[in-house]
Amino acid sequence: MVVAIDGPAGAGKSTVARAVARSLGYTYLDSGAMYRSVALATLEHGEPAAERARELDIELGMRVLANGRDVTEEIRTSRVAEAASKVATDPDVRKELVRKQQALMSKGDWVAEGRDIGTVVAPEAGLKVFLSASPEERAERRARELGIDPHQVLRDQTLRDEQDRAREHSPLRAAADAVEIDTTGRTIEDVVGQIGTLARERAGK
Ligand code: C5P
Repeated sequence: MVVAIDGPAGAGKSTVARAVARSLGYTYLDSGAMYRSVALATLEHGEPAAERARELDIELGMRVLANGRDVTEEIRTSRVAEAASKVATDPDVRKELVRKQQALMSKGDWVAEGRDIGTVVAPEAGLKVFLSASPEERAERRARELGIDPHQVLRDQTLRDEQDRAREHSPLRAAADAVEIDTTGRTIEDVVGQIGTLARERAGK
């Protein structure tokens, strides 16, 4: 079964998706790491981004490897995040990465997180969750994680949210059949528990 977890930056997707995957014994797929890897390659080797996407072999696990090189830390900088949001507007980049994601998820049980998992990558997912939280709380969480100024994070995040929601191809939106969960003021354990229960029900376990 596939559990799709979509939502804006800072809604807690990564932490929650990882924990849900662990509790269910499913494999975790971080689709954002793929867009970030393509963005890094484009910053380093230039456009066209779709060409970079095609030639890049991305391995996701404890570390993120792009053509064998460990880019785990480098893809987390705000420069790469901003560039990822840009390359993600390119329909040819999306087509290539969606193809890679679908190939990965063709076998086995997955918890996949991103922006378009429930709407495009895995429209048949057994459970779709759309995670959100207030913009202020999302910025605070990120700032705490990165040890930087929350106001700066809020500005960058607002820009990225707008770009992700307004883009023509696969804009960020909840699938019609997604369970929408607002994580504002809730603990990770609480949210992970709720999603785990829903997933077990859907999987008939
Ligand atoms: O989730 P993360 O912040 O790592 O994603 C980085 C960027 O990649 C997002 O801002 C978004 O523009 C893009 N993305 C996407 N579709 C996905 C995952 C990420 O467009 N499924």
